[in-house]
Amino acid sequence: MNDKINVTRSSMPDFDEYCNEIRGLWNSRWLTNNGSKHNALEKKIEEYLGAPNVTLFANGHLALESVIEAMNFPAGAEVITTPFTFASTTHAIVRCGLKPVFCDIKPDNYTIDERLIEKLITDRTCAIIPVHVYGNVCHVEEIRRIAEKHSLKVIYDAAHAFGVTYKGVSAANFGDAAMFSFHATKVFHTIEGGAVCCRDEELVQRLCDIKNFGIHGAESTLYAGGNAKMNEFQAAMGICNLRHIAEEMAKRKAVTEHYLSRLSGVKGIVLCEDQPDVRKNYAYFPVVFDPKAFGCGRDDVFLALASHGVCARKYFWPLTSEFECYHGQFDPNQTPIARRISESVLTLPLYADLPLDDVDRICDIILECHQ
Ligand SMILES: *Cc1c(COP(=O)(O)O)cnc(C)c1O
Repeated sequence: MNDKINVTRSSMPDFDEYCNEIRGLWNSRWLTNNGSKHNALEKKIEEYLGAPNVTLFANGHLALESVIEAMNFPAGAEVITTPFTFASTTHAIVRCGLKPVFCDIKPDNYTIDERLIEKLITDRTCAIIPVHVYGNVCHVEEIRRIAEKHSLKVIYDAAHAFGVTYKGVSAANFGDAAMFSFHATKVFHTIEGGAVCCRDEELVQRLCDIKNFGIHGAESTLYAGGNAKMNEFQAAMGICNLRHIAEEMAKRKAVTEHYLSRLSGVKGIVLCEDQPDVRKNYAYFPVVFDPKAFGCGRDDVFLALASHGVCARKYFWPLTSEFECYHGQFDPNQTPIARRISESVLTLPLYADLPLDDVDRICDIILECHQ
């Protein structure tokens, strides 16, 4: 019982299932550039998400950079976003020559606090990039209202929200575009991979060009694009994993419910509450420790778990606004809730095949810290 438990572990199809999926590639010898697996996966994801257009990418980060680039914002324009996210969200804005303006998050589900957005809008604001963090859905209606009123684009970082629906509508369908990550650690993965979902057909065409060097047809290159194409081996992994997505989420749900049965109601432990009208994907299990009420802080729990071979993750700490590369540019005190959550949150190990015995072991260690 002294095995190490990592915070995540990629789900994989049976070896034979994957081999069957890639066998044809040895005949076709078509390995990338809109191959048959790639095109089939696009269609299957469109069906699964009920989304009009899915454009696949080599990874989620390049998907996000590409969609920002495709929207042609003026250089130096401002983008309202949150610092309680993975590096990718903020870096994508900066790498596109735009300026992140950080909005605080809400203490109950850690998504952008929509009540604070309008105060941050200036005549240089071009877009809002909110994050469905941990698969929690942002206040999409209010964000849409604000964006329409001020003529701003909305791009959702939906990296955590594959399979999540709100009022029966997939997270793919909110905003002008939504980006998904299919990284190996995500609920649905293609080893590395990502996608943009959007309604606007012209935007889809630009995305297809931008991810392939800006080449538009054999004799015309319209943009200084990059290379962000998904290859056939990635797509084949996606086709296999998509077959098992319901089972994947059901297993994660069982793990989540076991955590809840052990940890909810414990003094000093704050858990995400279910959001009304949201179908969850059980991507993460974040726990916020209130050091006074719990008896010790997040870092103590982290170390206690580590000493028993359990790797939890300080996800997200530090805030992206506190990264060394942005030193002196942002004031993390302007997002006090984000700062407090970042200093007190741990995501616990969660993956489909995590045995419930291990969940008990993890909870025992945490509850010992409490006593
Ligand atoms: C994983 C992730 C990304 C980036 O996706 P990659 O596929 O790893 O490039 C972006 N934003 C968030 C919030 C993520 O968790």
